[in-house]
Amino acid sequence: MSDHAVKVEPDHTTASSGDKDYVVVTEELVLDTSPAASLSPPVPSCVPSAAGVQGSATPLASKDKARSRSKMGRDDRSTEGKVNTDIGYAISTHVGKHLNRLRGEKVLQIKCAGRAMQGKQETNGNSNGGSTHHRPRDRHEPGNKHQRKKKPVTVDTSKAKTSLEALKMSIKQLKWKEFPLGRRAACDIYWHGTSFHDNDHIVSGQVNKFPGMIEMLKKINLSRALRTMHELFPEEYNFYPRSWILPDEYQQFSAQIRGLKDSGAAAHRTFIVKPDSGSQGEGIYLIREASEVRLAAGSQARQAVVQEYVQRPLLIDKLKFDIRLYVLVKALEPLQIYIAKEGLTRFCTEPYQEPNHKNLSHVFMHLTNYSLNVQSDNFVHSDSQSTGSKRTFSSVLYRLASKGVDIKKVWSDVISLVIKTVIALVPELKVHYQADIPPGKPGPTCFQILGFDILLTKNLKPVLLEVNSNPSMKIEHEQEVAPGVFEYVSSPVDEDVKVCVIRDTLRLMDPGLNKHGHPPPAGGGGAAQQGTVITTKAGPPDKAPEEEPGDGLPTLCLKQVYPKYTKQFQYLCLVDRIATLFLRFLGIKGNMRLGPTAFRTFIRCCKLSNSNLPMASVDILYIDITRRWAASTQDSREAGMGLQAFVEAFFQLAGRRSKAALLRDQVASLLEVCEAHLDGPLSALPVAAAVSLEDRRSLSRGRAMAREASKLSPSSSSSSSTTHPPPLCSPAAPRRAVSHDQRLQRSRHGPLRTNLEN
Ligand code: ADP
Repeated sequence: MSDHAVKVEPDHTTASSGDKDYVVVTEELVLDTSPAASLSPPVPSCVPSAAGVQGSATPLASKDKARSRSKMGRDDRSTEGKVNTDIGYAISTHVGKHLNRLRGEKVLQIKCAGRAMQGKQETNGNSNGGSTHHRPRDRHEPGNKHQRKKKPVTVDTSKAKTSLEALKMSIKQLKWKEFPLGRRAACDIYWHGTSFHDNDHIVSGQVNKFPGMIEMLKKINLSRALRTMHELFPEEYNFYPRSWILPDEYQQFSAQIRGLKDSGAAAHRTFIVKPDSGSQGEGIYLIREASEVRLAAGSQARQAVVQEYVQRPLLIDKLKFDIRLYVLVKALEPLQIYIAKEGLTRFCTEPYQEPNHKNLSHVFMHLTNYSLNVQSDNFVHSDSQSTGSKRTFSSVLYRLASKGVDIKKVWSDVISLVIKTVIALVPELKVHYQADIPPGKPGPTCFQILGFDILLTKNLKPVLLEVNSNPSMKIEHEQEVAPGVFEYVSSPVDEDVKVCVIRDTLRLMDPGLNKHGHPPPAGGGGAAQQGTVITTKAGPPDKAPEEEPGDGLPTLCLKQVYPKYTKQFQYLCLVDRIATLFLRFLGIKGNMRLGPTAFRTFIRCCKLSNSNLPMASVDILYIDITRRWAASTQDSREAGMGLQAFVEAFFQLAGRRSKAALLRDQVASLLEVCEAHLDGPLSALPVAAAVSLEDRRSLSRGRAMAREASKLSPSSSSSSSTTHPPPLCSPAAPRRAVSHDQRLQRSRHGPLRTNLEN
């Protein structure tokens, strides 16, 4: 890390907290802010009452003892009878009753009307579904007293890796059947530790990873996806620090710092450099000058993101901390998102100071990663949820509430952030999904638990740091139980949070339950009121069956937020609509790039070509954009136009056609034109297979055209970063894409770099 001396200036990201989208978390979240209550640690209500627990209060001495003790702790707590009254947001169906009792007392209430989720066929990912497994229809059917003996749901855990222990506990609690070595016959659920491709050749059931999620959540691709959304919706997408992609955008980053210096505004700015596929804080450093970026030369240049550093985070006990929230993406089409009601907070182990030349390299002060801080002597392992270096999110909220913080608003902003982020990711995920599991071919459906890392600024604005495709589900940690003697001991805080998340994810993915599906999106996707306050009040008891535990299990710890809040966020789905067009012209042959013929076909079908846009210009547009994106893609084995390049082309076409001032209006107007010409709202299904075949032939022709065009177009004749500096808020180069076969190949022969959990 650098030791450069630079003065400190207020962090702009902390200066505004005006996020217009105020989602009232309409959940049974109850928070008693009375001082007495603040002494009681919050307890998530997710430990099954049936779980047999016992133990002693002996300090951690061995793995088994530690486990016993942690279980004892939870048992004790659950018998205190305070779970639903004085805790941060232990969610329970009983909370409603307590609300009445507590009304008039100093209580913050966040209520929720659940939603019935019956009666519709569910799709997941692609609308083809694909599951060939059929569970008895009566599974979990409420009120059915004469259920036939249920066949237990089968789970292949052979690839679960480090989530295995939490997974085993979950399966046991559900009384499902585990296949630790895999199974010849198909299983209902496959639990993968790393990626969709951990097990190849799955043709049915459900897999806990989406194809392409790892790639999408690498720092560069996440930054690009959020940047595109920021370009369309600057106010809505102001929760991600401004970022530049290295090495491509080094010049722009440099210019930005120079500009800030010239205006006298840069004096105290700090930036954080993060390697593209890094995790657990690896390779991260803070800088104050562009010259401090450690760029290796030529092809060795390591791809990274440099990002504005949030200089004034919210501190607790003078320590910086971040929030890990678990989010379940249950399906892409229609989009279904659940947020775990409990999360973790990870604390630094050295008191925080705003960055200065002396402390820039103080890892334990600036980075909240568990994997780093656990190495500090100051790290505190605690069985309590509200003390130590890892605590529950509810305990932090609880503490904030006791100081008068409007935690309802904090939660609501966090939920907004999560929904908006997933909306930004979905379009590209759909392209991956279609490439890996083409419609009409047998294949599994997918779901995935993501780990959102969020920082709260001093003025309580949530900032997204990153999203982990493979969040650690470990429930043990290594501890020195005697001098020099290390053992794995159970971590009660981790166990309480993570087992609930896995178990309830499984419950939501129960194939029997899914037979009944979910209702259509709230409001049926009607006209969205943009940026409005979500003020759903607790309503009639229309809970989803999945939220009504009829099997002795606790209330789900995962709360649906989408489609529940579709109305408030659907207007943000412009890129998703562009992706639907893209998919339609892509074909179903497993490719992820559009060829020149397909692009021409798109232009023709949507009748976009006219005297102002002759087909020759269309070709040049295609070549120009595709070449530029390919130039900054290290692996461009698959030629053609990826989704992000297509989005850029679409933006350009929209700008040419519309006089509207705002890009989002230009884009919306062009989408309407395209959709009208393609017979109403698009479906992703009618893809142009024929076009795809033709394109394979014409891709080589396209390369020749590119050479021609480079002669015609002076702007496309040299390197992308110099002649076409991607504007800071435009989609830049496409993510690395390889063909379906190549992806399979890679998954078989080389572990993905991102198999590190984070
Ligand atoms: P990794 O995947 O390596 O953990 P992260 O993006 O999560 O990378 O960053 C690691 C840590 O660095 C975060 O947990 C957080 O404490 C800190 N951090 C990351 N980005 C920022 C930022 N923009 N401002 C302040 N702190 C940050």
